[in-house]
Amino acid sequence: MTVVGVIGGGQLGRMLGLAGIPLGLSFRFLDPAADAPAREVGELLVGAYDDPELLGRLADGAAAVTYEFENVPVAAARRVGALPGPAALEQGQDRLVEKRLFRRLGIPTAEFESPPPPVLVKTRRLGYDGKGQRLERAAYRLGDDEIAEGLVRFDRELSLLAVRGRDGDTRFWPLVENVHAGGILRRSTAPAPDAPQALAESYATRLLDELDYVGVLALELFDVGGELLANELAPRVHNTGHWTIEGAETSQFENHLRAILGLPLGSTALRGRSTMLNLIGTHPPLAELAAIAGAHVHLYGKEPRPGRKLGHVTLVDAPPDRVRQLEHLVAGSR
Ligand code: AMP
Repeated sequence: MTVVGVIGGGQLGRMLGLAGIPLGLSFRFLDPAADAPAREVGELLVGAYDDPELLGRLADGAAAVTYEFENVPVAAARRVGALPGPAALEQGQDRLVEKRLFRRLGIPTAEFESPPPPVLVKTRRLGYDGKGQRLERAAYRLGDDEIAEGLVRFDRELSLLAVRGRDGDTRFWPLVENVHAGGILRRSTAPAPDAPQALAESYATRLLDELDYVGVLALELFDVGGELLANELAPRVHNTGHWTIEGAETSQFENHLRAILGLPLGSTALRGRSTMLNLIGTHPPLAELAAIAGAHVHLYGKEPRPGRKLGHVTLVDAPPDRVRQLEHLVAGSR
């Protein structure tokens, strides 16, 4: 039995498990919450991410250990040799360090060294889904743990999902177009029309090679008239890649597992034009979601709470009126 250990037991862990079970893998998760979404797809160890005894149990006999959450303590990830690797984790945990890495690799970003207002002030660490962000329109002051970024007037937000194997083999999924509201992802569409795929791939390749990366990496980008500015990297499977479960030959979850286990990577080719909608805070009854032809429904087994990601639904090659029908249904439940 090949065991994979995962630090974190959220929905990303749950979907890693769902992708790995058909490959004959079994899973062990470490999460502080006894009701973590991954509890149904493997053994759940309940405790702190940096508990040495639990980390030992997580890694015991495991063929690979990974994480589904980028704020895992670096020392904990190092202790169990977790992939994609401590370098990626370190870069992804501090927005200032991350921005400097982008700049060193020649990847354009928003201005971040004393930009003039208007700026977005963000916490350097532990910020996600727009939490810990504020807009400053006039003179501003920064706390020690803050970074100011010039406000980018982007045409759209894109993300690139990439995967790199242990042997350095690298694949990319088509660029995804993303819509956020209140800092939370609402919708992803793939492929993004007329997107600068080659440019995005060249930026991601620099990061993957620099970090000697193994696994899936997500790079969030702003498209400003065909120029790309990097916003953020996530050293893990990513919400903007959930459409790959049905919309691509191989999902981000399966390819992440293939990468960390040293297996050949699967094709990232598109199966069809995909739209993914997040179910946030509350969601329509399952029967109503399931009544939409072709809707691939994913519920994460979480208690409803405002702003919480409870699930997502994907449509592949659906006519536009079907996408609108789903959008109305999802918006109507808020
Ligand atoms: P983040 O927490 O950095 O992922 O930001 C969450 C969302 O805030 C992004 O997806 C954008 O919609 C928006 N955002 C972040 N940074 C900027 C920026 N420098 N300029 C304009 N919008 C931004």
